[in-house]
Amino acid sequence: MFSQNKKIIRDIVPNPFSDQYIPKQLPVRQDMVDFLAEKYYRSITRGYGGTDITLIYGSLGRVGIGKTTIAKASAYKLEGIARNRGINFRWIYINAYYVPTIHEIINRILSPLSRGAPARGTSLTDKLRMLSDIIYTNALKLLIIIDEVQSILLAGKKDEIEKFYVLMRLHETLPIEPGDSWIGYILVAQDNTVLSLFREILPQVESQIGHRILLDPYRTDELYKILLERASSGLEPGTWDDSVLEKIACYYGIDCPEAGDPVGSARKAIIALRNAAEYAEIHGLGYINDLAVSHALAEDAGYSVDRAALSSLSKHELLLLYAIAQLTLEKGDYSTTGEVRRLYEELAERYGEKPRGHTQVNEYTRRLAAKGLIIARPSGRGVRGRTTLLRVAQEIPADRLRSELYLILEGKVELG
Ligand code: ADP
Repeated sequence: MFSQNKKIIRDIVPNPFSDQYIPKQLPVRQDMVDFLAEKYYRSITRGYGGTDITLIYGSLGRVGIGKTTIAKASAYKLEGIARNRGINFRWIYINAYYVPTIHEIINRILSPLSRGAPARGTSLTDKLRMLSDIIYTNALKLLIIIDEVQSILLAGKKDEIEKFYVLMRLHETLPIEPGDSWIGYILVAQDNTVLSLFREILPQVESQIGHRILLDPYRTDELYKILLERASSGLEPGTWDDSVLEKIACYYGIDCPEAGDPVGSARKAIIALRNAAEYAEIHGLGYINDLAVSHALAEDAGYSVDRAALSSLSKHELLLLYAIAQLTLEKGDYSTTGEVRRLYEELAERYGEKPRGHTQVNEYTRRLAAKGLIIARPSGRGVRGRTTLLRVAQEIPADRLRSELYLILEGKVELG
């Protein structure tokens, strides 16, 4: 425990496990970033023609699917292009959920541009004039990212909505000559309800949204690539392997048949990898094993061994589950039904029970899977013949489950 020399997480800045970290090249959806950056670059060099508003939103109820990341990565990319070409470009990110008023949003835009905040009490009109003066006199190209934009509309305050409208029309106060000044926007919203909100409250802005990007939850292969980038840059070499990433990616992947929580969230997957690494580090394992992954997922799922659920199992189901828990621990992976049956039979004899036959064991297996305690899946390539592979559900730490089953089988705990 608490070994000092089995470090797994690298001490580097920026920390690839922090929420602010954005890889220079996204392992997934870089094409969207390139497209957006190119689109805005063209708009900047073309000069001011209309508004450039992009709306990025997600599938209903989905978080951690890259909305903010795509917006910021596009701004970084644009910043790089502009620097190389000597263009005076700045971008500002504001999360409207945490910045309650438009007045405050404008302060946040102004203060990094104007060296010092405007005097208190300056009116909104004066602030907007200051802003457009700064943009004009510096031939500045300014990209404003407003995250959680729905919170401005949902607040439903009429005067705030009017002010927001003025902010979104700021470009109209700028001269039109190409190459001078420019303002573009990326609005980020949770989901498509923002579109009906815009239509209802601010149709003038809705009609100017030139580009809409709907992001889907991540698939398993996409999560794998995202995790691979984090692991390669944030973990010590030799402390992890592909199976760790595959298990986490499959647990959250929207399309994985064995997913425990198919939400498609990159945020959850990255946190799980970090927690698995921490677990392995704290326990001095030297590398991330299957158990570390299970403990990390249990943390997210809030899983604890539920005696009441175990109490509904028959003695033979308990024995079978014990065999599966034992083998999952030993292998850190699936076992074949044959292996499970052999151990189950041994255990049954040890506990003075006559082992049940094939059909009955298959029925127990089905019931344990239906209760979410184990995963049963058909063997794929690499296993001779066709069999079912079994393991304890990924988010159930097999060590905890095994100890609990041991106590029950030994009659050391009363079941409810
Ligand atoms: P959302 O805005 O949809 O809630 P975020 O953009 O904040 O999600 O992403 C959540 C986490 O997942 C962040 O740590 C982010 O860096 C990471 N992430 C999301 N999409 C990608 C991607 N395509 N490539 C690399 N990391 C990503």
